[in-house]
Amino acid sequence: MNRKAFLQSLALVPLTGFTMKLKELDSLIQPLAATEQMPVLFLGHGSPMNAIEENEFVKGWRNAVQHVPKPSAILVISAHWETRGTFVTAMEAPRTIHDFGGFPRELFEVQYPAPGSPAFAAETKKVITKTEVGLDYKWGLDHGAWSVVKHLYPAADVPVFQMSLDYNQAPQYHYELGRELSALRKKGVLIVGSGNMVHNLRMVAWDKMNEPEFGYDWALEANAKMKSYITSNDHASLIKYTSQGRAFDLSIPTPDHYLPLLYTLALQGEQEKVSLFNDKAIMGSITMTSLKIDRA
Ligand code: ZN
Repeated sequence: MNRKAFLQSLALVPLTGFTMKLKELDSLIQPLAATEQMPVLFLGHGSPMNAIEENEFVKGWRNAVQHVPKPSAILVISAHWETRGTFVTAMEAPRTIHDFGGFPRELFEVQYPAPGSPAFAAETKKVITKTEVGLDYKWGLDHGAWSVVKHLYPAADVPVFQMSLDYNQAPQYHYELGRELSALRKKGVLIVGSGNMVHNLRMVAWDKMNEPEFGYDWALEANAKMKSYITSNDHASLIKYTSQGRAFDLSIPTPDHYLPLLYTLALQGEQEKVSLFNDKAIMGSITMTSLKIDRA
């Protein structure tokens, strides 16, 4: 090596080191970079079998993200994770939880190996001021999350994390907590509420399981009323769902599948529109009605 080359190589050493550090730094910061505001979804998930079936509902879910830029991460508020206090999953590699019984082995064999997002879990904890958010390392992805997200991003290449439902809190609290997630939408996070607007498992008409569409009168009545509140932006009536009469009482016997809807609606901005899809009743007492909130 001649002298000039030697001097040049010396000069390059710190520069290369510096460039590498910048790159590392960049990869750490990049996931939280500002983006266009992401849409918000509420997906009626219905039976866990949807995870492995090809049907009109999973098509509807896929269509909902067709023109959405690939998210930096997906935050799911699932009907199937209830806790005392609010938690977000913060592990690097969430496990696929098969939180159901009596289904074919094929369904238990499904793995959805999407990475978690410790960075966005920490960010979520930071943006929420209403309560202390705990970081969870034990949960993973329950079927409320993976059975739908699997259809949105089959390659499992988008990090997924969950936020739990605090079972001690009133509907108004959940709505206000949902609002606080708004900042995440501008950091590339796709927020998905996963539940069912009408969901009464005890009243399921098992004999109508193979019918493409069937809803009891009260289920259809509540679903129609919910839709009219949604399209007229009357969130107050949806928050006060326990004072809406018999059809609502039968449709929401427990809050778990309904509350994710309130999180989704809480994120609707003034200039945003709601589009409904998968608007069908199945097995009498469940509606698959889903919605997307997006720029008007
Ligand atoms: Zn469910």
